[in-house]
Amino acid sequence: MPGQDNLNPQAEAHLHGPLFQNAIQTFNEAAAVIKCDPNIAERLRRPRRCLTVSIPVRMDDQSVKVFTGYRVQYNSTLGPYKGGIRYHHNVDLAEVVGLAALMTFKNSVLGLPLGGAKGGICVDPTKLSRAEKQGLTRRYTSEIAAFVGPTKDIPAPDVGTDPQTMAWFMDTYSQEQGGFAQPGVVTGKPVEIGGSLGRNHATGLGVVYVCERALEVNQMKMSGSRIAVQGFGNVGSFAAKFAFERGARVVAVSDVSGGIFNGDGLNIPQVIEHVKKTGFVKGFQGSQAITNEELLEVDCDALLPCALEGQIDVHNAERIKAKIIVEGANGPVTVEATKIMVQNGKFIAPDVISNGGGVIVSYFEWVQDIMSFFWDEADVDLKLKSVILKAFDSVYKMRQEKQIDMRTAAMATAISRLEKAMLLRGLYPR
Ligand code: NAD
Repeated sequence: MPGQDNLNPQAEAHLHGPLFQNAIQTFNEAAAVIKCDPNIAERLRRPRRCLTVSIPVRMDDQSVKVFTGYRVQYNSTLGPYKGGIRYHHNVDLAEVVGLAALMTFKNSVLGLPLGGAKGGICVDPTKLSRAEKQGLTRRYTSEIAAFVGPTKDIPAPDVGTDPQTMAWFMDTYSQEQGGFAQPGVVTGKPVEIGGSLGRNHATGLGVVYVCERALEVNQMKMSGSRIAVQGFGNVGSFAAKFAFERGARVVAVSDVSGGIFNGDGLNIPQVIEHVKKTGFVKGFQGSQAITNEELLEVDCDALLPCALEGQIDVHNAERIKAKIIVEGANGPVTVEATKIMVQNGKFIAPDVISNGGGVIVSYFEWVQDIMSFFWDEADVDLKLKSVILKAFDSVYKMRQEKQIDMRTAAMATAISRLEKAMLLRGLYPR
């Protein structure tokens, strides 16, 4: 374990955050299943590079505030580093290390030629003006500029950052490279400056592709199946829409205001119109109001939790009726709940694959930027289907071979790819 031989535990405090420790626990279990080379496992338990920067910003009242930012480059065996940038007041180095590790395993299991990284700034972005946010982003970009680039490390949006933030990042980096446009340095950009078509709905569409395949391997099919979706934001609303378009009966959806239910199926395009007008799903005509807790326990074939982490835990795991659970959100089913549900015969398609649509289309954006040749939306959707289903199938094969659950199988697949590549590349300098 990290830290055991270190004379000064403080030197490795960033390796002891709860997120990273959880990831390492899953890592250790999966590494044991595939009998991962112990030297490779030892290397994979550590981030390669952790950069901490001070970011001075002139605020609107002319005072100067200094923020702390990070970029953690966890592993680049499979390709350039890739991972988002988070602006949140809880960001610290330990959290960024955990997120960077998760990106490494996610990119690997998805079969992308990319390493894993993550960045962040400890700041509450809602308290900044547009000018302050731009100043913060530009100085952060400049501070980490030597370590990023289209062939080195390609950031993307995460919590608290958006396409505009990425546009400022791309512009700052390009100005510092002599003013030549470098769209490939960052993804999640607006389409006008090299963003990809299809990015907006990519995660929701990926969830539905995975759901379709999960139903199929469980001898069911999307058309006519009963589906419940928790969360009606970017991921959940598109997942509900694409499931509806494929003939599923979407019997329940919910958002922060509560849920709505109709056993014959909700008309999702009309629910989307209702949300545009009123802001929430509640009050939709011809539906019955239910709570978010009830939504999770609805009698259905597939449940798509697309809102928050930790929604299904030891308290409600036994009451989940859906046979298939497709994790649209990050970590909606806890590790303990997974164990209970797998024992009850549930099939859980884990978040690293199910919500991989976003990072897959980010990868496509980078490829299109490098080629300077852009695909139409139908092309992007089709390529997304091919990549995400290939990832699902390889994890399903691991599950069958090793008789393990899909979550452990996903980590085992990720480690196995990294292990093979690291053994081929060898240890530098010897
Ligand atoms: P979003 O903010 O667009 O939507 C979140 C939705 O969840 C909203 O409808 C909100 O009302 C609802 N919600 C909030 N609290 C709730 C509660 N207690 N019960 C039920 N619903 C609640 O966010 P998003 O982009 O759709 O992301 C959702 C999840 O998916 C997050 O875990 C995110 O990290 C993950 N994710 C998103 C993407 C992406 O591309 N957007 C990619 C990978 C993972």
